[in-house]
Parts: sequence; C-alpha cells; structure tokens
Amino acid sequence: MGQHGSPTNEVHFDNCFVPADALLGKLNDGFRIAVGELAGGRIGIGSLALGIGLAAMEYASAYLLERQQFGKPLADFQGLQWMLADCMTELEAARLLLMSAAWQKDSGQAFSKQASMAKLFSSEKANHACYTALQMLGGYGYMQEYPLERLSRDVRITTIYEGTSEVQRIIIARDLLKEAASQQT
Ligand SMILES: Cc1cc2nc3c(=O)[nH]c(=O)nc-3n(C[C@H](O)[C@H](O)[C@H](O)COP(=O)(O)OP(=O)(O)OC[C@H]3O[C@@H](n4cnc5c(N)ncnc54)[C@H](O)[C@@H]3O)c2cc1C
Repeated sequence: MGQHGSPTNEVHFDNCFVPADALLGKLNDGFRIAVGELAGGRIGIGSLALGIGLAAMEYASAYLLERQQFGKPLADFQGLQWMLADCMTELEAARLLLMSAAWQKDSGQAFSKQASMAKLFSSEKANHACYTALQMLGGYGYMQEYPLERLSRDVRITTIYEGTSEVQRIIIARDLLKEAASQQT
C-alpha cells in the first residue's frame, strides 16, 4: 500500500545452519534479544510517523494560503483553521512524548512504557493529520499529482508495524498494573 522505497518480503529459514562464530548473543536467546530491541524501534517508528504527519500539515498549510474559494483564501475559513490547530497540537504533544521516551532511553532508565505510549500516540495522531490534510486539499488531496495521497498511504503502516496500536495498549496497561501492584506490597 505504501512505503514503496522500503521493499517488504517474506524470508524462510529451513534447516539453516549458523556456525558458532556467526552467533549473535547466546544460543536460544534470539527471541528475547529481538523483543528487547523493539522498544527502541518504537521511538524510531513514532518519529517516522511524526515526520510524515508534519509534512502533511506543512503542505496543507501552504495550500490553504494559496487556494481561493468564495473570493478568499481557504486559510480565512475558521473550519479549516481549527483542523490545522487541532492536528498541530496533537503532533506537538507527540513530539514531546517521543523526546521524553528517547531521553529515558539515553539516560539508561526503563523506557518500554514511554516508548509504547509515544509510538501509540504519534502514529495515531500522524494518521489523523494526514487524513485531515488530505481533506483540506479537497479533490487534489486524493490525486496522485499531489503528495497527500502518498503521505496518507505511507503513514497507514505506522499504527501496525513495530507492534500494532492494540499491542502498545497491552504493553502500557501491563506496565501500569505492574507499577500499581508493586505500590500495594
Ligand atoms: C510493510 C511492513 C513492514 C514490516 N516490517 C517488519 C520488520 O521489519 N520486522 C518485523 O519483525 N516485522 C515487520 N512487519 C510485520 C509487522 O510488525 C506485523 O504485521 C505487525 O506486528 C502485526 O502483526 P500481524 O500482522 O501478525 O497481525 P496480527 O497479530 O494477526 O493482528 C491482527 C489484528 O489483531 C489485533 N490483535 C492481535 N492480538 C491482539 C490482542 N492480544 N489484543 C487485541 N488485539 C489484538 C492486532 O492489533 C491487529 O489489529 C512488517 C509489516 C509490514 C506490513
């Protein structure tokens, strides 16, 4: 559907022999290592989503100033101004959540819950921003000649890969309940 610059393929390993000197980490520890890397990756995917959302809003803002309807620029219509204001507020909040998660990771603290919160929020809000920006362009938003069509396809995967939004909520709730249980003991 999108992100065509990054090819996605299925890979099978049947009876694949890995020599000892090519082993990463300890034998049979691969799943734990792979899962451990996902939390950091979530900050990356959240940031990717934020970038797409901001690109969509940047394009739509310029378009509002340029396109004239009913004798004035679209930018003069309050309904469209509010779309811009709401989306940019959400994206700014996403940026701060991402920076907070990145800071916790960089400073060596536990950051899994913050990374999931940042990824969940950024990817959902970036999807909202892209679809809103597409709407702000009217028919041109849907046409391939304009970038909103591509940005809206590219952003769609960000609520799915590196763990779906539903899986992020499971992680966040699990960590919150663990914290609550530890305060009771
Ligand atoms: C373009 C692309 C690139 C990808 N790149 C990578 C990559 O580089 N590395 C990699 O490892 N993977 C990659 N993936 C795989 C991706 O991470 C998975 O598709 C994603 O994690 C969802 O898993 P699934 O497709 O098996 O969905 P499923 O697990 O089958 O989920 C289907 C639906 O059920 C929901 N669901 C599942 N379990 C629960 C539950 N317990 N509670 C509530 N809802 C639930 C999901 O949220 C989803 O909505 C890529 C996928 C795509 C499409």
